[in-house]
Amino acid sequence: MANILVLSEVSLDKDLSKPSIQVLKTARALADSTSSSLITLVIGGSLDSNKLKDQTGFCGVDKLIIASDTSLEQFNAEIYKKIFLKVIKDLNPDYIFGVNSTITGDLFPAASFHTNGGLAMDCTDVTLDGSTLNITKTMYSNKVISKLKFSSEQKPKLATFRPNTLMPKDVQAKTPEVITETVSIDQGSLKIKIKEVKKSESKEVSLTEAAIIISGGRAMGSWDNYKILFETADVIGAAVGASRAAVDSGYAPHKMQVGQTGKTVSPQLYIACGISGAIQHFAGMGSSKVIVAINKDPNAPIFKKCDYGIVDDLFKVLPILKEEFAKLLGKELVSK
Ligand SMILES: Cc1cc2nc3c(=O)[nH]c(=O)nc-3n(C[C@H](O)[C@H](O)[C@H](O)COP(=O)(O)OP(=O)(O)OC[C@H]3O[C@@H](n4cnc5c(N)ncnc54)[C@H](O)[C@@H]3O)c2cc1C
Repeated sequence: MANILVLSEVSLDKDLSKPSIQVLKTARALADSTSSSLITLVIGGSLDSNKLKDQTGFCGVDKLIIASDTSLEQFNAEIYKKIFLKVIKDLNPDYIFGVNSTITGDLFPAASFHTNGGLAMDCTDVTLDGSTLNITKTMYSNKVISKLKFSSEQKPKLATFRPNTLMPKDVQAKTPEVITETVSIDQGSLKIKIKEVKKSESKEVSLTEAAIIISGGRAMGSWDNYKILFETADVIGAAVGASRAAVDSGYAPHKMQVGQTGKTVSPQLYIACGISGAIQHFAGMGSSKVIVAINKDPNAPIFKKCDYGIVDDLFKVLPILKEEFAKLLGKELVSK
């Protein structure tokens, strides 16, 4: 019987992260089609094993391995790698999956190196045909969709998945067996020490996990003008992004930048307001499921790449959209 190991991640409040749920449910469907067992490893500080048992059980996990220790509160590649590699050695899994994140960006190449396993990062889809793993991923700034095949002899096969690109169906819940992985770290031998972590105060929806994003470009003209984006975002539960031109002009902070030198996002709906559609912006949002563009120039390149386009002034369109969304969703409008 084959084993699928998923490295799951938790959110700040120690719940299983939304992208991890997407990977786990997808892995469950693959496990069912090949009579495989689904095991997940969660590493972190002060993890609640009962809560994680329920949450991973809801994703159809057979076995939950928890490595929880105060030394794991902050991500430290050196310590996390030791635990990850030990669990891989113990389980000898056929497949190892995770969310494409800063954590897996460190751990998966290391695991591929140490196990001599094949690796595909930032994938957008996966199927399993017997023991052949088929992967879809975008390349060259979303200009090319590539299909990869891991040879069936390759073991393990490692893949990380871009948040919001996997669309798993609901799976049958299970009661996972819970195993505690003991963590013994010789702090003195560590080459990396985390001295301080500054967390954002913001309670806004995270851009990389958001299902809906509304972004403003150079046309916004000022930070004050972003108010209409935040108000509209509030109504539809969206995160607010920006183009690099808007960031470079000082209208929005860099943490909001979407694109080649900003964040890569894959929401269900991306609304681009006053954004021309440069290839570097597209590199960060081209895998969005539905793209809506609002631009007053009918020849703006974004109109060649979007699903729906509105040719008009964004400052005229957005207040109307906001009201229509609120009516549709039965929400009361609050002016900020
Ligand atoms: C190495 C490199 C990396 C880069 N990385 C990124 C990146 O990560 N992200 C990114 O976004 N860019 C990036 N860029 C920059 C990119 O090439 C573009 O310059 C940038 O995306 C343009 O931003 P924009 O569309 O907001 O501005 P513009 O290109 O100036 O477009 C503004 C648009 O707003 C429209 N408009 C104006 N007023 C209104 C209005 N009132 N209502 C409606 N529409 C209006 C205009 O018609 C125009 O189409 C990068 C460039 C390089 C060279």
